[in-house]
Amino acid sequence: MQGFYKLPMAQRRDILRKATSLTEDEIRILANTGALPADVADHMIENVIGGYSYPLGIATNFRINGRDYLVPMALEEPSVVAAASNAAKMARVKGGFEVTNTGPVMIGQIQVVNVPKPDDAKAKLIERKGDLLKKANDQDPMLVSLGGGAKDLNVKVLSTLKGPMVVAELIVNTGDAMGANAVNTMAEAVAPMVEEITGGRVLLRIISNLADRRLVRATALFDKEAVGGEDVVDGVVYAYAFADADPYRCATHNKGIMNGVVAVGIACGQDIRALEAGAHSYASRSGKYKPLTTWEKNSDGDLAGTLEMPMAVGLVGGAAKTHPTARADIKILGVKTAIELAEVMGAVGLAQNFAALRALASEGIQRGHMKLHARNVATSAGATGALVDLVATRMIEEKKIRFDRAKELVAELSKGKKPA
Ligand code: NAD
Repeated sequence: MQGFYKLPMAQRRDILRKATSLTEDEIRILANTGALPADVADHMIENVIGGYSYPLGIATNFRINGRDYLVPMALEEPSVVAAASNAAKMARVKGGFEVTNTGPVMIGQIQVVNVPKPDDAKAKLIERKGDLLKKANDQDPMLVSLGGGAKDLNVKVLSTLKGPMVVAELIVNTGDAMGANAVNTMAEAVAPMVEEITGGRVLLRIISNLADRRLVRATALFDKEAVGGEDVVDGVVYAYAFADADPYRCATHNKGIMNGVVAVGIACGQDIRALEAGAHSYASRSGKYKPLTTWEKNSDGDLAGTLEMPMAVGLVGGAAKTHPTARADIKILGVKTAIELAEVMGAVGLAQNFAALRALASEGIQRGHMKLHARNVATSAGATGALVDLVATRMIEEKKIRFDRAKELVAELSKGKKPA
């Protein structure tokens, strides 16, 4: 498919149709870019042939740092929005979520190899910190004028598979930007100077997604009566202890947090790969994979939860600015700064984790999921309109939420025939 990238979208779709068994209807489905104008989509990534839609829901009841928020969430997984809203409602009893942050600070890494004297090079780089920071800041007068920019330099000597390496790290306040482009530009700009100072060769010049200088810390107190009694509180604490002791459980514990974080991230046009990478690398910082939240019972028997994780998000740059739905979602949220968005996402992550642990430690996760899951199974078996609920309800009654049964019910109910 040489030159595919140069073709207009419609021609790319023609080629795709000929190369696959896609029908005209399916091509029309793919061509639909939804709220994203086709030409905007075409400039966002490469080889664009159309769009892809997610449901967008609103999580309610969130009170964060004394303010109420309506939280847009875009995702395909049933129960997440309901769980977040429900958890937020329970958190309100004791005042909602309190969230702080460490500021919008990212790290840009410059890797230097073949350095004759790594420790000397480290000292020289630190000596020339002022010049290096100036060079970095010259790249982004806009960011500097807003109070951001490169603020510090960290230098380390790593012992690696390929021998010692010097790594210079620019510590950059990225303001209301996620900052990857800004930081990468700075890292590339200082590279020649780093080579000259160290006598080595610079290879990689790129942001680190282990954004451990850009943390949010969310806390909430859940009233024991509101959550269903002290047994539930104990159950959540046991669930947390399990995750703390076992990486197999911890992966799913943290995945539950990311259900909320990523859904708000998608809705608001964020780089969710960066969020995932930051979260899981931070969870492993001790050398053991650990939960991003902690849960304990206080002296009154209430449940105290905390979350601490990197949250590299922005309001300028990336899809947050170019995607019309993301812009509208940010307006729904009403956040004015990137750190406010990060704080909301931290609260949602904590709420989501609480909801999952509470369900797991009491009635189990499937009961809450059942209805939505059954509807999804019914839809994938071909049910439409009123038939979706009819098929779902029958499968729940029969305790047989399965694709094969859904198919049978769709066939029988859509004929108006009484199913066997
Ligand atoms: P950007 O470069 O589009 O916007 C940032 C720039 O906006 C700043 O450099 C500054 O000049 C300007 N600006 C205007 N008002 C500002 C304000 N109030 N605060 C801060 N800056 C302001 O975007 P970015 O945030 O630097 O980069 C984000 C993009 O980079 C995302 O799309 C992401 O997917 C992508 N990316 C990510 C990685 C990664 O590893 N995570 C790597 C490469 C690229």
